[in-house]
Amino acid sequence: MSTSLEILRVAIPTPLRRHFDYLVPLQHAEWCQPGCRVRVPFGRQQRLGVILERVTHSDVPPHKLKRVEKVLDDSAVIPSDLLDLLRFASDYYQHAIGEVIAAALPAALRAGKSTQHNSVHWRITAAGHAAQIPVRAAKQTAVLARLRQAPHALSEADLKSGLPGLSPVLQRLHTAGWIEPITIALDPMTPWAATPAPALSAEQTSVIEHLREQQGFGVSLLDGITGSGKTEVYLQWIAEHLARHRQVLMLVPEIGLTPQLLSRFSTRLHAPIALWHSGLSDSERLQTWRAARTGSAAVFIGTRSAVFLPLRDPALVIIDEEHDPSFKQQEGFRYSARDLAVLRARRWNVPILLGSATPSLETLANVARQRYTAVHLTQRAGGAQPPRFQILDMRRQPLDHGLSMPLIQRMREHLNDQAQVLLFLNRRGFAPALLCHDCGWIATCPRCDAHLTLHRHEQQLRCHHCGLQRRENQQCPTCQSSALVGIGIGTERIESGLRTAFADVEIVRIDRDTTRRKGSLGKLLERVREGRRQILVGTQMLSKGHHFPNVTLVGILDTDQGLHSADFRATERMAQQIMQVSGRAGRADRPGEVLIQTHHPDHPLLHTLITQGYNAFAQATLQEREQTELPPFSHMAILRAESTRASAALDFLRQVADRLATLAPATLHHYGPFPAPMEKRAGRVRAQLVLISKTRGSLQTTLRQLLTVIETDLASRSVRWSIDVDPIDMY
Ligand code: ADP
Ligand code: ZN
Ligand code: ZN
Repeated sequence: MSTSLEILRVAIPTPLRRHFDYLVPLQHAEWCQPGCRVRVPFGRQQRLGVILERVTHSDVPPHKLKRVEKVLDDSAVIPSDLLDLLRFASDYYQHAIGEVIAAALPAALRAGKSTQHNSVHWRITAAGHAAQIPVRAAKQTAVLARLRQAPHALSEADLKSGLPGLSPVLQRLHTAGWIEPITIALDPMTPWAATPAPALSAEQTSVIEHLREQQGFGVSLLDGITGSGKTEVYLQWIAEHLARHRQVLMLVPEIGLTPQLLSRFSTRLHAPIALWHSGLSDSERLQTWRAARTGSAAVFIGTRSAVFLPLRDPALVIIDEEHDPSFKQQEGFRYSARDLAVLRARRWNVPILLGSATPSLETLANVARQRYTAVHLTQRAGGAQPPRFQILDMRRQPLDHGLSMPLIQRMREHLNDQAQVLLFLNRRGFAPALLCHDCGWIATCPRCDAHLTLHRHEQQLRCHHCGLQRRENQQCPTCQSSALVGIGIGTERIESGLRTAFADVEIVRIDRDTTRRKGSLGKLLERVREGRRQILVGTQMLSKGHHFPNVTLVGILDTDQGLHSADFRATERMAQQIMQVSGRAGRADRPGEVLIQTHHPDHPLLHTLITQGYNAFAQATLQEREQTELPPFSHMAILRAESTRASAALDFLRQVADRLATLAPATLHHYGPFPAPMEKRAGRVRAQLVLISKTRGSLQTTLRQLLTVIETDLASRSVRWSIDVDPIDMY
């Protein structure tokens, strides 16, 4: 090949699990660092890719290699530690590197926007004014000439316009002492510091002392009951790092990013806080990304993909509600932000804190294996008592809109004391099914194996699995009867039942249907905070992170689903929800009470949970998992397949299973293939194959071999497949 060209290995966002090689002229190769973006020809299109590395040899014959069209950056958009992590993640989650990298970049950067932040400014120094520059350093001369004429300073973006490849030039001038950077937005002399905080309890103090001992990387679990002051610990520990002018990354669950949390942080921390979540526009996200990069913000609070922010000077990582399922991406690149955050903290060599009142069994197992250390907060801050639990046996009980008589009775008593009552039901809509009383017809989704949910207020039937919506039937399509009845209970129905039973009480419903509009969740939460005599009805949206000081009674309307599910994680999930919702109840002067409705009052795990608490429940469940060799005592991956043709997905997975039998070591077992729990969804028939291995290593090796076999031999146009490593849902 020609000596005046070099080869770049580029990641391009496509589902293909490989990289692509391109040529670049030698004189430009210097700028082509790993992590820079390039525009390249791809098929008949142009695509934006990210350089993985510069190599001297390609498996593609030289004459077939195409040239890079444009190099967009003169310094890495993805810093090397992050690129390293993303390459690991691509390997670990068996997902195409191009898509993995795309997931880590804000949309604006994927679209080619500049990374430059115009608040970075340069000004000329006295030495620079006097400098004699060799004539051939034309760019240096040009920069100095511009800065000599500038009244004060020029933004880097301004300087760069019309002068490509400027970053190294600025660096050279800076090293020579001729120019210096100034940050216009911030006064670098003022340390970021916090306003005074409440005095910590003895428990909180010993937690902070433990955390301070952690030098460099280490994982700590902050296991503290709801309301025990975990957030207060975060705030104080963050403040210590801000005083040293360093950055903090905090991940929160999707829904936890409430105005409440933000206002608490911003009144307490006198430091720029940047947010990262799905409600932001592309340009707002780009701003946050730039602030991470330049160091112009100190605290980054964000959901899942914030784990990829390129912090300049990280000091600390916090994962709040580390057990929350939203940290696992459930489609495409199926990564766990919690697990990647641990790896990131290790590369950064900084401590990471996982906080929860209901830690995941994975994390508890890591504590037991002494990989993580645990610290505990066992008491509520300010002396409030934990709530009292009671099980309500629903068998043979008359129900009024899903509420048993003892529950209604207690609700009246609490409301008479001017308190709030919270009712939790993780099912939205009016009724989960619509039935014809005359002939037994049930409204089903034509595209899924599922009943349609009745949304009475909108007079619609909706499929919660594929999004299908249609008008509520007035007549049965088979027998024309108009005796159609909603079967079962959703939050909307509870609400309408309460309006009759508690006509003089204000009712606030919080679920996805009532919070669709931007800002509506904040408004409803505001009403709750100001309210006195009130009933709140809601789904898991209510259970997370909020603090409702006036709630004294929590009613959990249906636990039976969680006790009898095909998913081995269902009981863990249910226990976490019960404890999280219950944690909303009670404050210092009024103890809380939790009533749990169930048809299985003698269920041993439910019993352990309410009589001995979450930790005892978790230990019992861990024992079960150990006996059955399920995660965290083994490692799991699910290969899912779907097709519009009836048996194609199952046939495909049968072939895969056959090949697996020849590949897999004895320590790896597979189960299936079998039809997915909901076999048809959105018009596709789905099946799955579960792989379980004693060791992570053998699972990884086998998966890698297996996917190569699938891609070369078994792939078929009619079957879509995906791999989920460390799945948290068995659907
Ligand atoms: P968690 O995050 O564990 O749910 P929070 O940090 O939100 O707990 O604390 C619960 C409540 O107790 C909050 O209103 C908080 O302001 C208050 N609180 C926490 N720590 C203290 C303390 N040391 N002194 C007084 N109040 C505290
Ligand atoms: Zn009918
Ligand atoms: Zn559907």
